[in-house]
Amino acid sequence: VELNCFCWTTSIPNLPEFWHITDLHLDPSYHLAPDPTKVCYSSKGVPATNPGLYGDFLCDSPYRLIESAFTNMASLTQPEDFIIWTGDSPPHVPPDELSTDIVIQVISNMTQTIRQHFPNMTVYPAVGNHDYWPQDQMPDSTNAIYKAAAQFWKPWLQADALLTLSQGGFYSQLAKPGLRVVSVNTILYYGPDKVTRNMTDPAGQFEWLEKTLERAAQNLEKVYIIAHVPVGYLPFVRNTTAIRKSHNERLVTIFRKYSHVIAGHFYGHTHRDSIMVLQDKQGKPVNSLFVSPAVTPIKDAEQSYSNNPSFRMYLYNNKDYTMLDIWQYYLNLTEANEKQRSDWRLEYVMTEAFGLIDLQPQSLLQLGLSFMLPQTKTFHKYFNHFMVSYNNSITCDGGCKVSQVCSVLYLDQLSYSKCAKGAWEH
Ligand SMILES: [Zn+2]
Repeated sequence: VELNCFCWTTSIPNLPEFWHITDLHLDPSYHLAPDPTKVCYSSKGVPATNPGLYGDFLCDSPYRLIESAFTNMASLTQPEDFIIWTGDSPPHVPPDELSTDIVIQVISNMTQTIRQHFPNMTVYPAVGNHDYWPQDQMPDSTNAIYKAAAQFWKPWLQADALLTLSQGGFYSQLAKPGLRVVSVNTILYYGPDKVTRNMTDPAGQFEWLEKTLERAAQNLEKVYIIAHVPVGYLPFVRNTTAIRKSHNERLVTIFRKYSHVIAGHFYGHTHRDSIMVLQDKQGKPVNSLFVSPAVTPIKDAEQSYSNNPSFRMYLYNNKDYTMLDIWQYYLNLTEANEKQRSDWRLEYVMTEAFGLIDLQPQSLLQLGLSFMLPQTKTFHKYFNHFMVSYNNSITCDGGCKVSQVCSVLYLDQLSYSKCAKGAWEH
């Protein structure tokens, strides 16, 4: 199957679908300045390498890039779709370049931009670590930013959801009969958040989450978990959970307990494309987790790779809400800048790319285990997707591969540490 063929986009199968966008990171300062160190504040004085109309790999998103993503996405949507939006609107700049007011303005701007492109579509947001000032320092109680978000998101969320959002930055809402979206504020568990560092249950969110999942089970609902910072281990570094270790253990315990209620997890934050499969204590695969790559193409100057701008569509089963497929779209940033045109294209279809029948936990476990085999073609493809086709000559072997593969398969400390010894690696 020729994946770079635009015909795919006109033959979307007749299955229910929803969209996932994350890490927009608007940099309002982006402009084609003659001095490359002045193209964007987010490059922090480092000269932009290849600045163009749609951005640069050392900068956060120009408004034009975000606008082109939504314009393209809107042309592919169906009226009954919904969108999940897992946070991080402001740019990566030093704290003194921002303020509470500026962060609120950027969230407002991104909300309005989405509303303009999707006037009749419900959007389920989750808050990101950059959606606060100073960044990462989200409090366990109400504040100007949670309140502003609750105001902006009134067109999408109901009164009870807006109430918990304005108090703790989390909420749950029925998306359709039998399907509940639970938006978790994982910034409260994020290491750099000094406010919640010594709290066992910041904002009472763990208690709320268990109650919410318990009630969903009683009402025979299925749940999609959405959040910014993912549970589990980071794929690009050894032995490091994305949230604090203790909070990660607690979250994994809750997700295992209610895995029969949860039909999928959707995260952002790493800016890269990855999967995880939650196994119970006996090693049975019980949940599928997806980390969506970012719209922003930014990387640090010393990083060897980044990600092309991206958004994605999920196909799901209308009856039990299990996950069937991902259609991953991307913009080849270098090409878009050269042509001064934004041709967003399908990067891959998950089941096609890896020969899967669906994206249920059993299928993802098989895929993850296949990465452990010495023939690395499948894993090389996965790693190329990880970078959103940034550069497929970059390889990931040895220690790089161990970190990647263990993060896919193991989310708790005990099982991860066994894997990370790397005895399986050839
Ligand atoms: Zn981000």
